[in-house]
Amino acid sequence: MEKTDFIPYGRQYIDEDDLTAVRSVLESDFLTQGPSIEAFESKICEITGARYCVAVSNATAGLHIAVAALGLKPGEEGITTPITFVASSNCLAYNRLIPRFADINDHTYCIDPQKIEENITNKTKVIIPVDFAGQAADMKKIKDIADHYGLKIIEDAAHAIGSTYPEGIPVGSCTYSDMTVFSFHPVKTITTGEGGAITTNDHDLFTKLRLLRSHGITRESNQMTENPGPWYYEMQDLGFNYRLTDIQAALGISQLNKLSFFKRRRREIVNKYNTHFSSVLNLKIPFEAPGHDSCFHLYVLQMEFEKINRTRKDVMYELRELGIGTQVHYIPITHQPYYMTTFGTKKGTFVAAEHYYERTISLPLHPGLTDGQVDRVIQNITRICTK
Ligand SMILES: *Cc1c(COP(=O)(O)O)cnc(C)c1O
Repeated sequence: MEKTDFIPYGRQYIDEDDLTAVRSVLESDFLTQGPSIEAFESKICEITGARYCVAVSNATAGLHIAVAALGLKPGEEGITTPITFVASSNCLAYNRLIPRFADINDHTYCIDPQKIEENITNKTKVIIPVDFAGQAADMKKIKDIADHYGLKIIEDAAHAIGSTYPEGIPVGSCTYSDMTVFSFHPVKTITTGEGGAITTNDHDLFTKLRLLRSHGITRESNQMTENPGPWYYEMQDLGFNYRLTDIQAALGISQLNKLSFFKRRRREIVNKYNTHFSSVLNLKIPFEAPGHDSCFHLYVLQMEFEKINRTRKDVMYELRELGIGTQVHYIPITHQPYYMTTFGTKKGTFVAAEHYYERTISLPLHPGLTDGQVDRVIQNITRICTK
């Protein structure tokens, strides 16, 4: 096997249109703070149906300012899932809020609305559901809970651009959330290198997010307390430099032009995996809940490692030797040393999340995979599980 034959679990898909788009920005007047940013934001609004969009330097930055925009008080609480990337809860800690966790649903691996409700206290102010692997969380139920208790919702849709729920409503429309955050890291569905975006239908949140993205500074005369001249700007809040560049935004637009192709190809691969793996012992394929149409970011299998007489480590090393990259999504955040020491989380608290974590393995899934590569993955996984 040659080195070039290695199949990573995730990879960007870049074509000539992407190269042309980036080149034309490099040859233009603006590398940042130029016209490509708004064009990218408009395109995201068009795709999601949201009224407003704020492009940011990455989804972590987006989550940080989305929480900040809510203006909560230190010590107040937010609830998210333990089965996600650490950024989903770190955004609460950045804002001096307390991250709390609620267990996942056994089938979808998304946060369980009932468990959210059980963990609500009088300090709870925000819920951060994650659209795990691309499939939207149970947003309708979560919105009912949020409305009932007067909570805000920030949907972490880092995995889910191009997905719909329910019945064709695009993730990011903010029908069931106050803000939705996307990631454009290279392993995600579309990429800008690093990058992210927040959508919202709330004009006040939109204004606040724009302010926080760029140092808390405004130059818009209708937002300033005075306007003595053309040099003048006002810093009205403690913001950040979380801007995306025009180079990245142009890449984002040309990537979005391929979103339906990306979705179709990811779906084809998922169907192929499902068809083969559904009849293999000791494997559980991803569950798709009714009303959901996932633009799959991850292909997550549950594997009964004990029953196939291997550890997960053995399986991952064996596959690596065969040129197949795999990953684990995710180690429960509540197991992370920082969370255990700072927020007192403990191993053994979340039964469904731990059961899931012990068995999970993510297989290669990206639009550039060839049918031959997909077959190679299928053959090797099947062999490992049946011998
Ligand atoms: C990737 C990811 C993030 C962070 O995205 P970045 O753009 O890398 O900052 C946040 N949440 C989830 C669920 C992710 O998978």
